[in-house]
Amino acid sequence: MQEQLRKSETLKVIGELAAGIAHEIRNPMTALKGFIQLLEGSIKQEHSMYYEVITSELERIDTIINEFLLLAKPQEIRFQEKNLNQIMRETLDILHAQAVLHNVQFSTRFDETLAPIFCEPNQLKKVFINLIKNAIEVMPDGGTITVTIEAFENNQALISIQDEGIGISKEKLQRLGEAFFTTKERGTGLGLMVSYKIIEEHKGSIRIESEVGKGTTFYITLPLL
Ligand code: ADP
Ligand code: MG
Repeated sequence: MQEQLRKSETLKVIGELAAGIAHEIRNPMTALKGFIQLLEGSIKQEHSMYYEVITSELERIDTIINEFLLLAKPQEIRFQEKNLNQIMRETLDILHAQAVLHNVQFSTRFDETLAPIFCEPNQLKKVFINLIKNAIEVMPDGGTITVTIEAFENNQALISIQDEGIGISKEKLQRLGEAFFTTKERGTGLGLMVSYKIIEEHKGSIRIESEVGKGTTFYITLPLL
């Protein structure tokens, strides 16, 4: 089962709008978080539950705002010649602790002769982190995430990220990448949207293959230099 991630033409407008709103919300949020923290010691015992809810909901708003800000072009976008394998290795290092915690192991196969790519490495890392985090989250009992990088067709790099998770039904597959589409209790449904936008900016593509109960593979292509 395959499905091309749908391309949203309104993404650019949404991105600009989102960044504007996110910045506006950030300042009052900082004040709220600061003052709530000051209150901690003087909260009555019977109200401590409320305090916890307020704190965790504030954190949630923070997460959503941060993901929204990613939609906008970063202040300093600096495309540079980079080795894709190295970017992926650094990403896997960042996620190592989280993987161990969830009983997940990484299996990698990289083409060491791969030509460099022209990219914004931090943005690409965000994409890989989003996809690999999703993969970890769909394997509650652990498993293996296989990451491969190879050359593909006419001067493209092909990255695959494969999990052994619950898979994605055909109906859900069509909604992937839509803003706020999430099946998780605490999900934001923004990770894939942001990822899709970043890959688009790199003139690449994302494709998904999935089988319910077996797992999912995300394929990303990026132009090689
Ligand atoms: P979030 O992780 O906050 O839910 P995402 O945009 O990262 O938001 O993902 C949106 C939805 O896509 C997820 O809630 C999940 O239903 C589905 N999804 C993404 N990656 C996978 C995967 N590897 N396996 C199964 N479902 C996935
Ligand atoms: Mg996610």
